[in-house]
Amino acid sequence: MFATRFAPSPTGFLHKGHAFSALTAFAAARATGGRFVLRIEDIDATRCRPEFEAAIYEDLGWLGLEWEEPVRRQSEHLDDYHAALGRLEADGLVYRCFRTRKEVAEAMASAPHGPMEVFRGGPLGRAEEMRRLAAGEPFAWRLSLDAAARRLGGFAGLTFMEGEARITAQPELGGDVVLARKDVGVAYHLAVVVDDALQEITHVIRGCDLFEATHVQRLLQALLGLPTPIYRHHDLLLGPDGKRFAKRDRSETLRSLREGGMSAGDLRRELGFD
Ligand code: GLU
Repeated sequence: MFATRFAPSPTGFLHKGHAFSALTAFAAARATGGRFVLRIEDIDATRCRPEFEAAIYEDLGWLGLEWEEPVRRQSEHLDDYHAALGRLEADGLVYRCFRTRKEVAEAMASAPHGPMEVFRGGPLGRAEEMRRLAAGEPFAWRLSLDAAARRLGGFAGLTFMEGEARITAQPELGGDVVLARKDVGVAYHLAVVVDDALQEITHVIRGCDLFEATHVQRLLQALLGLPTPIYRHHDLLLGPDGKRFAKRDRSETLRSLREGGMSAGDLRRELGFD
């Protein structure tokens, strides 16, 4: 059965761009009689706030959306993500990265074959790793693209559907992405692929700002033996200044529009729905 999702992070109030994305996914689910899932991506406790989560339900309800209950809140399912990480670790596909942000930037800038656009590293020697672990140094888990390429015999056969078009994934675009952060214990890409599979999402409909993420996520699906949904990345809604909406722009949040007297019907029409 067709199933799609809207997966906001409660790090700010939703704006018109979110409304457009949510309505696009919701309309696709309605058109096929499929499922519409709302997922709260709140693994980063340092940035997520309960009032933003409450506002998500309120704003989407106001907009006329209906979603399946119970809503999956990622912070309640950390065990699922740790289990997936454990599988990657057992398969030798991730490594511990002890570098600070600054050290990562320095390593990228001074790479032997010219500056790296994305980080590629690799594990430390065993003795050095043991020494740092024993010293209690914090580390992140990173995906090893080299190990992944060895495991899959290269990435040439790794494809996904973007609407009707078959695209060859280029996970190199993301480099050795962080899959578990030092402070948070899990990172975005891993949580998303685990949840899309667990929630049986058949169609991922989201903004084109996440197109590169799909290449990384396709690789993780292959490594974890998870199904690959069909993807559709829509254009981003632009504000009057030609720039995309951002959570920091207070003026265009759904609640400020509502408080300013706009009706949900007006907004839906403005965004091309109804
Ligand atoms: N939580 C992500 C965000 O708010 C979206 C993730 C996704 O759609 O895969 O940008």
